[in-house]
Amino acid sequence: MFVYADNAATTKISEKSLNAMLPMFTEEYGNPSSLHTVGQKAKEYLEDARARVAKCINASPNGIYFTSGGSEADNQALRSAAYMGRCKGKNHIISSKFEHHAILHTLNALEKEGFEVTLLEVYSDGVVKPKDVENAITDKTCLVTIMTANNEIGTIQPIKEIGAICRSKGVLFHTDAVQAVGHIPVDVEEMNIDMLSMSGHKFHGPKGVGALYARKGILLTNIIEGGAQERRKRAGTENLPAICGMAAALEEAIENMEQTTEYVTNLRNKMVEGLKDIPKSRINGTMENHLPGTLNMCFEGIEGEGILLWLDQKGIAASSGSACTSGSLDPSHVLLAIGVPVEIAHGSLRLSISEYNTEEEINHIITTVPQVVSYLRKMSPVWEKMMKEEE
Ligand SMILES: *Cc1c(COP(=O)(O)O)cnc(C)c1O
Repeated sequence: MFVYADNAATTKISEKSLNAMLPMFTEEYGNPSSLHTVGQKAKEYLEDARARVAKCINASPNGIYFTSGGSEADNQALRSAAYMGRCKGKNHIISSKFEHHAILHTLNALEKEGFEVTLLEVYSDGVVKPKDVENAITDKTCLVTIMTANNEIGTIQPIKEIGAICRSKGVLFHTDAVQAVGHIPVDVEEMNIDMLSMSGHKFHGPKGVGALYARKGILLTNIIEGGAQERRKRAGTENLPAICGMAAALEEAIENMEQTTEYVTNLRNKMVEGLKDIPKSRINGTMENHLPGTLNMCFEGIEGEGILLWLDQKGIAASSGSACTSGSLDPSHVLLAIGVPVEIAHGSLRLSISEYNTEEEINHIITTVPQVVSYLRKMSPVWEKMMKEEE
């Protein structure tokens, strides 16, 4: 049996999304910037996709800029807000310790350019406190960027409240909503969001495409210079197949959201029930306000990499946290940020499921994970030492 349980890293493309892409390769292959009929037809598809994506987050189509993905949207959002701030003599940015590296590394780069960055605590429940945001804002603050839902532990942040605070203080508010869009309701008006990043491949659309939403009046800084595409804010011939695929996937996800949430939450709860009693294990972050499909656990005395390799042998594709840090032996910055001790953070496992998973697959996970954990512990000197110390 093969079980794909790594949907926070990327998802399988949906049939509807794929079918929306195919004609863009074979028939509608015009360049939207061309003046001839084929080009103008492509332009129509492009603007239609823009309007549909905008509608999905209750934005105006003029606020949607297509990018190469979530990372590019994050980079562009942060640089734009920072440089707008600098023009007004403001150089302070507020974010949190458990953001995606597309945010954290961009902030590092901006620090080298003279910006000051405050990274807020996220506490053991994995949630940023709006009060902390309020207290951190100074008259130099030009941007607050807090993710809508965390990619490793799945906790959802109080975005509406944080947005309201930023608005009342006249500070721009960006949210990396890559894990949230298509999974939970996201409304830029209701949630007081000025800028937002999304990515097609996290909601059963194609890879290499995303969008940046920026409210009217925000002056974007180009990350890619060149032609006049995307109202001169993102050069390069538009990836029309991917853009159409993303629009179709997002509409489908939102149309089915209620039933998907119920189905996936049930499977997730079953997984929690089946795994929570493994000795010396913990669930990371609160499960209260949470993405339906993500579960992050730690198992003491063993390494996440070992768990993953053995699960892979048993047909289960999972992750030890972020796909971006796998390959490095550092424990997850997210788990450290929520106060998990370093030695325990090493033994982390993220299972992220979707509506394509079945109950049978969840049963396979529930029987296999405890076997793998106890097998690895039998060979672990760390575990042996822990057990000796307990005697
Ligand atoms: C996946 C992800 C990104 C990066 O998106 P790409 O489209 O892969 O560049 C950014 N932020 C979060 C929270 C993510 O989960």
